[in-house]
Amino acid sequence: MSILVVGSVAYDGIETPFGKTDRILGGSATYISLTSSYFFDKINLVGVVGNDFEDEDIQKLKDRGVNLEGLQQDESGKTFFWKGKYHFDLNNRDTLDTQLNVFEHFDPVIPESGKKAEIVCLGNIAPALQAKVLDQVEQPKQVIMDTMNFWIEGAREDLVEVLKRVDILIINDSEARELSGLPNLVKAADKIREMGPKTLIIKKGEHGALLFSAEGIFSAPAFPILDIFDPTGAGDTFLGGFAGWLARTHDFSDDNLRRAVIYGSAMASFCVEKFGPERLLNLSPAEIRDRYQEFRTLSLIPVQPDDYK
Ligand code: AMP
Repeated sequence: MSILVVGSVAYDGIETPFGKTDRILGGSATYISLTSSYFFDKINLVGVVGNDFEDEDIQKLKDRGVNLEGLQQDESGKTFFWKGKYHFDLNNRDTLDTQLNVFEHFDPVIPESGKKAEIVCLGNIAPALQAKVLDQVEQPKQVIMDTMNFWIEGAREDLVEVLKRVDILIINDSEARELSGLPNLVKAADKIREMGPKTLIIKKGEHGALLFSAEGIFSAPAFPILDIFDPTGAGDTFLGGFAGWLARTHDFSDDNLRRAVIYGSAMASFCVEKFGPERLLNLSPAEIRDRYQEFRTLSLIPVQPDDYK
C-alpha cells in the first residue's frame, strides 16, 4: 500500500491578526504529505518547484520520509507563490496574490513507485491535471479529491468529468453550495454524490465537518482551540490525516471513515497553532493520540438511565 499525493508545492506569504510572514513553505501537496507521513511511511509526492526552492525545505519533506522522486525541479522559473490575508475572525481570507510561475506548465508525471498507489490524493490543482494523474495510475482503491471555488467557477466541465472518477470528495461548505447550486447542505450533498463521489466530506471551518456516505451522515465536532495563529493549510492537513489513517488501517468501512474524519480534524487542529506547516514538522505520536481522544470526548453524550420518553 502506498499513498500518491499530487498538488501544489509553494511558497506562501501569510498575514493573520497575529503576525505576518513573507515567505514560508506551503502548497496543498506539502501539507497533505507532511500530515499523512505521521500515519504511513510510503508517501509519494508529485509536484513541481522552481529555481528558488531551498534545500532546507526539501529536507523538511525528506525528514518526514516523503518520497520525492516525482517532485520536478524546473530551473526555468520560480516556485508557485500564494499570498493571503486573514480577517479578524480567521474564517475568511482574501487572496492577495497568486503567481503560478513553474506551476503554469506543470505536467504531472507519475513515477513507477506511485502508479500502484492504493490511495490517490488529488490536492487542489486544475481538474484537467487531476484527470491526467488518474490516467496514469493503476486501479487505486480510493481516489480522494479536493477542489476550490476557483475551479468550480472557472473549469466546471473538467471538474464534473473528473468527479465521475473520484471516490471521496472533500470540500468546504461554500464550495458544496456553489458546486450543487443548492443552499441546503444535506440536499447539496445528495446532488454532489450523484455526480460521482460515493462519499462526501463537507468541512465547516471552526464548526467541524460532515461526512455523507451510503450509510448516512456523521457530524464531527470542531476542536475549541485557544491559540489559532494561522489557518493556512488546515483543509489540506485534514485530507492528509484522513488519507493517512485509511492507509494505515486499510479499512474503508463507514465506521473507519468516521475515525479518519476525526484524525483529519485532529491534525488540522495542530496545523493552525503555528505559522505555515511548522507545527506539522515534529509532532509526537502521543500528541496525536491524545488529541484524537479529546475529540472523541468532545461530543460524547453520556447515557442516562431515564432517557427522554
Ligand atoms: P488551504 O488553507 O487548505 O486552502 O491551503 C492553502 C494552500 O493552498 C497554500 O499553501 C497555497 O500555497 C495553496 N494554494 C492556494 N491557491 C492555490 C491554487 N490556485 N492552486 C494550488 N494551490 C493553491
